[in-house]
Amino acid sequence: MSTTIDETSKRYGRLVVLAREGKKWKCKCDCGNIFMTPGNPLRRGATVSCGCYNKEKSTKHGCCKKSLHLYRKWRAMIKRCYYEETDSYYLYGARGITVCDRWRNDISLFFEDMYEEYIKHVSLHGKYNTTIDRIDSNKNYEKSNCRFLTRREQANNTRSNNFITYKGKTKTISEWTRFLNIPMTALYSRIYKRKWTIDKSFNTPVSIKRKSLELDFNGEKRSISSISKEVNVDRGVLYHRIIKLNWTIERAIKTPVKARQSKKRQG
Ligand SMILES: [Zn+2]
Repeated sequence: MSTTIDETSKRYGRLVVLAREGKKWKCKCDCGNIFMTPGNPLRRGATVSCGCYNKEKSTKHGCCKKSLHLYRKWRAMIKRCYYEETDSYYLYGARGITVCDRWRNDISLFFEDMYEEYIKHVSLHGKYNTTIDRIDSNKNYEKSNCRFLTRREQANNTRSNNFITYKGKTKTISEWTRFLNIPMTALYSRIYKRKWTIDKSFNTPVSIKRKSLELDFNGEKRSISSISKEVNVDRGVLYHRIIKLNWTIERAIKTPVKARQSKKRQG
């Protein structure tokens, strides 16, 4: 364990470090974005901007024009690993999965490594059926560990990579969810996000909480679905905000729902 080096007010590329927040550094990018990052990639020179540098580079090298679809795959990969607010972050970034510096830093190098294989796969299976896969799901995104698979192959592969042994029985995580009658999302969340032991994850009942999930709304006990219909906010959004983020009902209802596209960075 090393002691934390104080990075406050230092400059790394386009980023100026503002303050320590939790285990990360809060930085301001020259483009105006506020960006959170661990100290290591800053000092190594792996992170030089909020992402705007790469965006410019991808335009310059024409990666976007070459394949917007592959460009989006690259972005999604970065988000899964580095942006905590991404839905699937707990399966990637939170588990320590990273993107190699070569790719994270320079999208044109990602294209250099993967574009040819990508085009081959697309010509055989179509764009929609082309997903990027890590051969070893405990290892990072880097050329030697990545390939393209169809959605079905990807799904099978994801499952087969998550073997769990409990009381002498080895099953995939999806087999366990059926065996234990615990929803997949709940089991994933317990094991990987909340870092419960297998024993606790397998033996804590889910149904009680779910059934009694009634909230006080305008003086009545109401389910999230019925509130969702009344206020016209997506049920999933309400559920996420109230249950997962622990927001008040009022805040969950009144905060506007961001469209996916509006998350795009500026500059
Ligand atoms: Zn920026």
